[in-house]
Amino acid sequence: MESVTARTHNNFISQKVNAISPSGIRRFFDLLSSIEGVISLGIGEPDFVTPWHIREAAIHSLEKGYTMYTSNYGLLELRQELALYLERQYGVSYHPEQELIITTGVSEGLDIALRAIIDPGDEVIVPDPCYVAYIPDIVMAGGIPIEIPTYQKSNFAISAHDIETKISERTKAILIGYPSNPTGTTLSREELSAIAELARKYNLLVISDEIYSRLTYGSNHTCFASLPGVKDQTISLNGFSKSYAMTGWRIGYVAANRDIIEAMLKVHQYTMLCAPIMAQLAAIEALKSGEDEIEHMRQEYDKRRRVITKGLNNIGLTCPTPQGAFYAFPGIDITGMSSEEFAEKLLIEEKVAVIPGSVFGKHGEGFLRCCYATSLSDIEEAITRMDKFVRRHRKS
Ligand code: PLP
Repeated sequence: MESVTARTHNNFISQKVNAISPSGIRRFFDLLSSIEGVISLGIGEPDFVTPWHIREAAIHSLEKGYTMYTSNYGLLELRQELALYLERQYGVSYHPEQELIITTGVSEGLDIALRAIIDPGDEVIVPDPCYVAYIPDIVMAGGIPIEIPTYQKSNFAISAHDIETKISERTKAILIGYPSNPTGTTLSREELSAIAELARKYNLLVISDEIYSRLTYGSNHTCFASLPGVKDQTISLNGFSKSYAMTGWRIGYVAANRDIIEAMLKVHQYTMLCAPIMAQLAAIEALKSGEDEIEHMRQEYDKRRRVITKGLNNIGLTCPTPQGAFYAFPGIDITGMSSEEFAEKLLIEEKVAVIPGSVFGKHGEGFLRCCYATSLSDIEEAITRMDKFVRRHRKS
């Protein structure tokens, strides 16, 4: 009787879900939580707490009894603030009542975008390595991910030329995320314009995950939708998690052409319904008066970025200076280890947590993702420990 139950439960799982693996990052967190004294460069999350006035806005909303659903689109006041923000920050205008949906983070935005546009067998082009959710989300939406390899020698930038070689009859969209998790790469306006040119030429959608748009350290971020002639072909995903240190609030947004927004709204209304009202009210406050804190946090990450890049290169782990987000992506060639072996042994021997590059795609192998959204003293101590580790394991 027992074995029948077990077999039956396994058989319930859909082929789509069976085909995807659980996040490789989770596995490391589970391992990490069982070891004392670990310095974590693992989790991709700000070490700052949400600024007080933003938290206060949510506290007040609870005190006033705002505990109900909002419109499926999200609070109109938030959409109006967002439209103003997108115009002043990136020079791109969206109609607050027709072209924006408030989501429970970019995670939901990505899911509803893919489910709204993909028919079984449609192809979606993605960079390799890329953020861990891109490929599983495409697969769960019934699509086929087409990975474009990117390399350290070209700064892990996806090239329009390489994309063009993979465009087929079934290509529906190009999914990009710059500044990039895991590589910290940003794309220049010229590089993005070349992708925009392809989108126009082949009539493709571009899903642009710009969650790290406020965390750039060289030139300013170019919003993909602001490039000439592609706004209506772009689904912009963005949110509050990273730049405002609001990961736990689960709040983000999508901006797109009204027909696409209508389609996405159907998926959103039958699954999520709306983002939490307290988080939406906090997001209004963030947009109205959060600029100083964004800049303060960005400057702090910038200091840490310089320290970690210098430290990694000094100990022989080659690492071009990342231009965005809060990740360094050094190569581990000198050890001859796989990234998983390196990360696991480093955690056990030196109690430093990093994420193996292989969890972000085949071309992430040979690299580590080191998140520097942690204190300078922890970064310095992590580098000292990694130095000891590399000396011990250097290829002879
Ligand atoms: N997109 C990228 C590239 C990310 O790195 C993350 C989180 O790590 C997300 C999306 C998820 O963002 P959110 O918290 O808004 O769901």
